[in-house]
Amino acid sequence: MSPPNPPEVSCQNCEACCCRLEVMLFTDTGVPDRYVDEIEGQVPVMHRLEDGWCAALDRNTMMCRIYEVRPLICREFEMGEPDCVDERDKWFIKLA
Ligand code: SF4
Ligand code: SF4
Repeated sequence: MSPPNPPEVSCQNCEACCCRLEVMLFTDTGVPDRYVDEIEGQVPVMHRLEDGWCAALDRNTMMCRIYEVRPLICREFEMGEPDCVDERDKWFIKLA
């Protein structure tokens, strides 16, 4: 018997896997300071909670609270690109 097909790649069936990656802030898009970690001499990053998810992620809806001013990296991260598929694979393996 063959294994079940993995779910179709869609943000609708994803636990915002990409919002657990480190997000560097190379440009100022207006992210509120409370979501930013500043370390002297390093590029600022989005603050992540202990479980790894970005602090700007709404945990009820699993959607970005600051979508209009989200960082450049988040804007450029495309659904279905290799990094997306890789993160999803890691997440679904963890759930299996
Ligand atoms: S871009 Fe990819 S990893 Fe990010 S939420 Fe959508 S499907 Fe998930
Ligand atoms: S800023 Fe928004 S889109 Fe970017 S990682 Fe955080 S929650 Fe996800």
